[in-house]
Amino acid sequence: MEIKVMPAGESERRPKPKDESKLVFGTVFSDHMFIMNYDEGRGWHDARIVPYQNLSLDPAAMVLHYGQGIFEGLKAYRASDGRILLFRPEKNWERFNKSARRMCMPEIDPAVLMQSLEALLRLDADWVPRSRGTSLYIRPTMFATEPALGVRPAKQYVYYVITGPVGPYYPEGFNPVKIYVSDEYVRAVRGGVGEAKTMGNYAASLYAAEIAKKKGYTQVLWLDAVERRYVEEVGTMNIFFRIEDTLVTPPLTGSILPGVTRESVIHLARHWGIKVEERPITIDEVIERAKDGSLKECFGTGTAAVISPVSELCYKEERVTIADGSVGEWSRKLYDELVGIQYGEKEDIFGWVR
Ligand code: PMP
Repeated sequence: MEIKVMPAGESERRPKPKDESKLVFGTVFSDHMFIMNYDEGRGWHDARIVPYQNLSLDPAAMVLHYGQGIFEGLKAYRASDGRILLFRPEKNWERFNKSARRMCMPEIDPAVLMQSLEALLRLDADWVPRSRGTSLYIRPTMFATEPALGVRPAKQYVYYVITGPVGPYYPEGFNPVKIYVSDEYVRAVRGGVGEAKTMGNYAASLYAAEIAKKKGYTQVLWLDAVERRYVEEVGTMNIFFRIEDTLVTPPLTGSILPGVTRESVIHLARHWGIKVEERPITIDEVIERAKDGSLKECFGTGTAAVISPVSELCYKEERVTIADGSVGEWSRKLYDELVGIQYGEKEDIFGWVR
């Protein structure tokens, strides 16, 4: 596909953060964005890279009413030799197109998704930060632009990619999080759109997350919508439990986002000979095992933090500390290995890095 490039002029350049140690997630954006449009019958067209700029939308744009909007989240890492690396981007493209299908939106050829990201990264290569632990966050997004009211799939869409430098998630080492188990509100239902990375899922999560924050917790642990017993995921991460010497994570049954980090952790752990079970696990089992000491570790997985150790759970107003609140051996080992691969420091044995 041909991509038209319109580089930013001097006045359109954006100020680059001077102190990479002070980068805050999601606040600074790079000079350029990739964008293309879709019309039914014509397909995707007018692929272009332009200076980062506002979008112009008709107030009837269907995304604003019926919520056809999906996105992805991945990072570009700077290796010590200066190369810019991506971690399993094809997994993000696969999930993106799965989200598109679920939301009745047009798919995009993964080769086009890859080509457009690479072209954007080449132009904004200098925006990939250099200090240890920093990265360039990448946000591919698609939504319905057709100006029309009436509930049906739209006939026009826009796809764009913005990027921005982000700081190290753990500037001073692991920071274990405290989690609030929500038994009143749910994130997603089986048969619903929980496994799609669609905008409404995040709006749906806010209310319970605010309650958790007010109570002093960082994130919400979601339970299944029917019985409110089975653990699903935590905030914007998938969740793992180390019970004795087995790693347990809930299975993908439609209401959980299939994380790229989740899949990588399962793969890596199995490669190391660790027994991994993808099986339903109830919150009662988790609490019981935390109390009897067989729950050795608990951690969330996601692109942002890679591994996020959980030190405390609050369920029905009862607070339970996990493994004395210390960071577990497997959490650390998985973190070191994945981060090492992402930054090109460890051997890429599975061919995950591009
Ligand atoms: N669950 C949810 C709801 C998320 O938003 C994310 C972040 N994309 C994850 C899990 C983790 O997915 P990944 O490992 O691909 O970042």
